[in-house]
Parts: sequence; structure tokens; C-alpha cells
Amino acid sequence: MQETALKGRKFTGSARPPKTYSTSRTCASKVCDTRLSQYNKREYCFTHAPTKYPRLRGRIVKAEA
Ligand SMILES: [Zn+2]
Repeated sequence: MQETALKGRKFTGSARPPKTYSTSRTCASKVCDTRLSQYNKREYCFTHAPTKYPRLRGRIVKAEA
């Protein structure tokens, strides 16, 4: 008995759509109406994201001896 069946994955074309979050969400900040992308899982817009970004503002701290 010989099994020569080539097993391949059937491409059924049932690819799932990309995961989306609820549409037309806005920034969680109450004073902000920035719309968030439905692909963006964050609650805040870029400006109000809780992550603290270092702000150097170009200040030059002089090291005084
Ligand atoms: Zn915001």
C-alpha cells in the first residue's frame, strides 16, 4: 500500500479581518477630542499618553566646577 497523497493546507480565503477596537473612539482625556485610530489600542492620544517622554527642551545645563 502506498500513500502518495500530498497534504497541503487548503487556502480557504477565510482570513480574519485585522483586529479592530471600537470605532470612533476619542482620547480618554476629557479635555481632548482627538480621535483615536480603531487600530490603536491605547486610550489616550499621543499627546495624553501616560507614558512620560523626556523633555529636554534644548536646555543646556552648564556643569560648573
Ligand atoms: Zn488627548
